[in-house]
Amino acid sequence: MTNTKPKVAIIGAGNVGSTFAFALLTSGLAREIVIVDRDGKKAQGECMDLNHGLSFTHPSQVYAAGFEGCADSDIVIITAGARQKEGQTRTDLVQANAEIFKLIIPQIISYAPEAILLVVTNPVDILTYITLKISGFPKRRVIGSGTVLDSSRFRYLISEHCHVDPRNVHAYIIGEHGDTELPVWSNANIGGMKIEQFCPTCKEFDSCRRTKALKRIFDEVKNAAYKIIEAKGATYYAVALALVKITEAILRDQNSVLPVSTLISDYYGIDDVCLGLPSIVNRNGVEQFLRLALSDEEEKRLRHSAETLKDIIRRIIL
Ligand code: NAD
Repeated sequence: MTNTKPKVAIIGAGNVGSTFAFALLTSGLAREIVIVDRDGKKAQGECMDLNHGLSFTHPSQVYAAGFEGCADSDIVIITAGARQKEGQTRTDLVQANAEIFKLIIPQIISYAPEAILLVVTNPVDILTYITLKISGFPKRRVIGSGTVLDSSRFRYLISEHCHVDPRNVHAYIIGEHGDTELPVWSNANIGGMKIEQFCPTCKEFDSCRRTKALKRIFDEVKNAAYKIIEAKGATYYAVALALVKITEAILRDQNSVLPVSTLISDYYGIDDVCLGLPSIVNRNGVEQFLRLALSDEEEKRLRHSAETLKDIIRRIIL
């Protein structure tokens, strides 16, 4: 049964946490939103600002608190920690953010032992795995935002190329949310048609120009965060909307297919690592990931992505 008074806790009142709080408030999905940040003044300021818009949104309670504020939350969304600076990769953040998680996860779960934990902080796949291990929660209740954002970027860029509504583009980026991620071109489609059959531009191209066009799209997806960070210091709008979509799938028990980061086992020889794969998300968290049939090349790249993440996990000192 869906909760009629859903409560969402947001850890981290920075760019991502506060933009998500705003998007969540306008969505009307939560009746209670609590924001926790080690900078209590910042969290309070964000809540004041959000509360001043309540007469234009939905009846909600928005307040700042310590970790005790996580009690009775349906979902705890974790955005706390360092973010990429210009020239940094997501994995450069791993040691600093793993140490933060070592401190905050025990506090979160002591107050919210039944919640679903949704990890956003980067490197998100590794921190999802660490959260799973520290919390001891069942795997379905520990979710990373995975490649939901990357897949949205991918769908948008394909939609621009093909002049079609991005909502009708069905295409996934899978693997690490980061440099080893990969596009699943083998089953990307627009309303059931393969892109090269649908797309007027691609139809005219010879196979070499077509391959180049598709490569450019994926390169833009992969480098999007670097470009945005160079231009404005951080990325937050699209990820906030992606988080609203995941939150909605959970709170409204939608069984939505979203490429969240989840614990993978027995898939093309990949085991015991969290990474992004299309998965069914509902009130229980991740119900299951979809065992997509990949091309040989995609399979090889996914295994490389998984190995890269596992290598980094082995080197973390906790
Ligand atoms: P930010 O620096 O604006 O905010 C981080 C916040 O975390 C700060 O307010 C800080 O005070 C707080 N914080 C740090 N340690 C804390 C602790 N121990 N307890 C409570 N709060 C603490 O950063 P941002 O731009 O909001 O990014 C947050 C994270 O999200 C980064 O790791 C970034 O890389 C990641 N991110 C992920 C995605 C994704 O798709 N998964 C997309 C964008 C950003």
